[in-house]
Amino acid sequence: MKRIAVLTSGGDAPGMNAAVRAVVRKGISEGLEVFGINYGFAGLVAGDIRRLEAQDVGDFLGRGGTMLYSARYPEFAQLEGQLKGIEQLKKFGIEALVVCGGDGSYHGAMRLTEHGYPTIGVPGTIDNDIPLTEYTIGFDTAVNTVVDAIDKLRDTAASHVRTFVVEVMGRDCGDIALQAGVAGGADAIVVPEIEYDLAEIAERIRVGRERGKKHTIIVLSEGVMSGEKFATQLEAFGDFHTRVSVLGHIQRGGSPSPFDRVLASKMGAYAVDLLLEGKGGLCVAIQQNKLVGLDIIDTLTNHKHIGDLSLAELNNSISH
Ligand code: ATP
Repeated sequence: MKRIAVLTSGGDAPGMNAAVRAVVRKGISEGLEVFGINYGFAGLVAGDIRRLEAQDVGDFLGRGGTMLYSARYPEFAQLEGQLKGIEQLKKFGIEALVVCGGDGSYHGAMRLTEHGYPTIGVPGTIDNDIPLTEYTIGFDTAVNTVVDAIDKLRDTAASHVRTFVVEVMGRDCGDIALQAGVAGGADAIVVPEIEYDLAEIAERIRVGRERGKKHTIIVLSEGVMSGEKFATQLEAFGDFHTRVSVLGHIQRGGSPSPFDRVLASKMGAYAVDLLLEGKGGLCVAIQQNKLVGLDIIDTLTNHKHIGDLSLAELNNSISH
């Protein structure tokens, strides 16, 4: 193996740059030529590919977003786009590809694998929704951002005796809400994986108010419904002075946390190790603090991500 390439795809996530840096520097230290592909699969098909030297990824480690840029490029779900992508890689003499992205990007990587092109997936998404890995790159930073926001909203909630519904990202995965909810002392955490009972949440707010609690924070995962809709439903159970805060894209940005920088560095370098061992068609995962390379087709076809749902129960027992 002489030449490999790396791209970032889908929603940007803090730590993607650290992963790219690790792929590039580890690859070069192993004697490989490493190429960067701009704008994810769109850039791959367009041939937006350039050689990266060690100094080209200087100052990547602590930067949010992705300096290789990203794109939503649904055309890559079609065979034509996939074959064009492989053609471009071959034109540059590139023998293997590292794809850093979320669930959709993994499907792109899986298609390349199915066509016999050696590809390794590195989980880069704030959503933490990739099967069989306990953490994805960017998740920890996003949780930190949400907790910071909850701490600030609590000040206003307490000053005005209000209830804040804080809508957080995660698509169909409640991990951001669960972790940030516990860390932020939320009164209730509402996620797609667990049924919720509005009457019970309303009763909890009422009991808290009766014993003098001035602030209420409900962390709502976007996959359940919008914050506005949830607030309207909650107000049907009583006047809790409810306000909604949709945190939105601030959750995606910012400098990656030390945890994400380390995770991304480990995963990026490990992806190169796997390729050097002649292994493709895998995705990198972390399980009990150990890196593993899993079959990407099996991972996506036969498994679902399951977060630590016990956090919801824990929160119910300690947040009253
Ligand atoms: P995030 O969850 O953080 O937004 P993601 O990787 O899931 O990240 P998507 O927009 O779903 O983001 O996917 C990224 C890209 O992967 C798409 O724009 C497309 O180019 C490619 N892709 C998505 N689904 C498929 C598929 N089924 N087959 C081939 N390529 C796909």
